[in-house]
Amino acid sequence: MDFLKKIKDYANKVNEIEYSISNNKKEFIEIYERNLALEKEIVQRTQELDQANKAFLTLKHVWELMNSSEPLSTVLQKLVNSLHGEMGYINSTILQLCNDEKGKYFKVKAFSESPIFNKLKEFLSEKNIDIHEYHLKYDPKMIITKAMEEKSILSSREYLETINTLLYDFKDEQKEIINKLGVSKNIIAIPLYPSNNPFGVMMVFSPREDVTDKELNFLSLFANQVEMAITIANLFENLKKEAVTDSLTELYNRRYFNQALQKEAERAQRLHQPFSIISLDLDYLKKINDTYGHFFGDLAIRTIADILKKNARSIDIPARLGGEEFSVLLPGVDSSGAMIAAERIRAAIEAQELDTIGHITASVGVGTFPEHSIKLDELLDMTDQAMYKSKINGRNRVTLAKAVDDETEWHEVAFGAFMDILTKQKIPIPDQIAKEITSKLKSINTSETKSTLFSVADTLAQTYNMHYKRGLTKAKVSMAIDLARKMELSKEDIDKLKIAMMLYDIGKLMIPEEILNKKEPLTDEEKQKIKEHPLIAARTILQPISAVSDIVPIIEAHHENWDGTGYPNKLSGDNIPISSQIILLIDSYFALTQSRPYRVARSKDEALEIIKLESGKKWNEKLVEKFVDTINESKQES
Ligand code: GH3
Ligand code: MG
Repeated sequence: MDFLKKIKDYANKVNEIEYSISNNKKEFIEIYERNLALEKEIVQRTQELDQANKAFLTLKHVWELMNSSEPLSTVLQKLVNSLHGEMGYINSTILQLCNDEKGKYFKVKAFSESPIFNKLKEFLSEKNIDIHEYHLKYDPKMIITKAMEEKSILSSREYLETINTLLYDFKDEQKEIINKLGVSKNIIAIPLYPSNNPFGVMMVFSPREDVTDKELNFLSLFANQVEMAITIANLFENLKKEAVTDSLTELYNRRYFNQALQKEAERAQRLHQPFSIISLDLDYLKKINDTYGHFFGDLAIRTIADILKKNARSIDIPARLGGEEFSVLLPGVDSSGAMIAAERIRAAIEAQELDTIGHITASVGVGTFPEHSIKLDELLDMTDQAMYKSKINGRNRVTLAKAVDDETEWHEVAFGAFMDILTKQKIPIPDQIAKEITSKLKSINTSETKSTLFSVADTLAQTYNMHYKRGLTKAKVSMAIDLARKMELSKEDIDKLKIAMMLYDIGKLMIPEEILNKKEPLTDEEKQKIKEHPLIAARTILQPISAVSDIVPIIEAHHENWDGTGYPNKLSGDNIPISSQIILLIDSYFALTQSRPYRVARSKDEALEIIKLESGKKWNEKLVEKFVDTINESKQES
């Protein structure tokens, strides 16, 4: 009995234990399951947080980019790149809708760095096409065009169809390569309407099957930022066009300066009051850039700007016309007042000590209305010439413009004329040569002004006459001076002759090279063309340069013959300026003694004989007589 009871007790205990075990198990499973659910929730929450965080960071990045002063294309490029990286998209692109005479098409405005686009770029560069210039097909059936037209975000699994339509003129095997590089599950198109104007579409390739609402929400926020960046860039562009100040120095810009000048000229005319212009150029800026770097070049420019601002009265207009070129307009100020102001500015620039560079200087020119000219263009020219004169006389100085009839050294006039021709007139000289000549002229210094001028004239002559020897200009000018003295020309006329000797053939720059260097006899038409060069030189190139206006008639007549058989005006005898006669005779003598494409060089004696034969016909007899003397004397000397 006892035994039976004991067994029952055991059985009960086992049951109890079993019960408690099963109870615990249940609890355990519940806890386990609850934990599992919690864990899942945590993962999901973390993912959401992570995405939100990424979205936040991306948008923050966008905001920072928009605040930078980078050009729109760079900002958009960075935007698509940030979208690509942060959200795991395979590619993101901004396409701009274009509509011109070729119809509607898309242009790639920005694309994220991805294998697809690298390949695309590679294929296009084989055809020498820049990816930004490539025309992508506009097809109303594509998701991106639909998104634009419906003004709403659309997504589609028709990834391949869209790519194949866009790249309609690519070869099939190329399309296949591109398709393989970007196997995407989804293409999302977000329309871009900055300030409600159609711009284009943002296209995103997604690796995920599904597009969630949250994702669309994020993309639409992102697109808003892109639209904002475009709007800001457009506003900025417009503002830049309307700007009156220069961004580096905050001085007035060239556009504003010209407007103010125009107004001031009208006011001065009406009220019979003077005004002055100070023109200023930083000395040796190139050297500062080369030695210390562009940053310090800019510092020098800003220093000058600050000094100009400090020295300006409230009605003055200090301006940066470009690079290292400054001007100040001084309303109501005559030349003596302007000279004082200019000198004060020059001295302040010289006195200023700059970080690392030390001291800088500037060359200054001053011109005054009406004293130097009543014509605005001419006044500006003369002010510039005065500034150049400061340069050739050693820099760091102020020069007052000279009224037209004042005496100016001939080499200063020639220098100014060359500068004008090379920097302001549109003459067809290869860029490289123009730069070479301009830099030669700019580095001119007092002791070698004349030899630099001769060398520049040689280089110019070589551009229209490949047989022109260096040193020839100097030889011609010196012979012209000898002959002019024998003909008893005044000093003033001889000075004009020197300038004319350097410029008389400049019209040939406008004649096609094939004609100038032709070996075969010229056709009548070609001869006619060549005969135009005195007129071109005189009227087109030199007439607009006020400082050389008195040599224009000399140059125009430098192909007239004594007997009236020359060109362009068939002048004869004493109607031909004596200086023109001298130029033609010397030019002919040197032409005869040089080889030409169509004949060999004559000896000096042969050349002289040929000239003598036409004495009294082509040439003034007296002139030939003196010329023979000149040549004989030069023979004795050598
Ligand atoms: P010069 O005394 O004859 O005027 O000599 P320069 O070297 O000042 O004159 P040049 O005209 O030969 O060279 C001007 C240089 O100025 C060349 C150009 O690169 C530089 N420059 C133009 N604009 C800027 C600018 O905004 N910043 C800097 N740092 N340099 C500039
Ligand atoms: Mg300079």
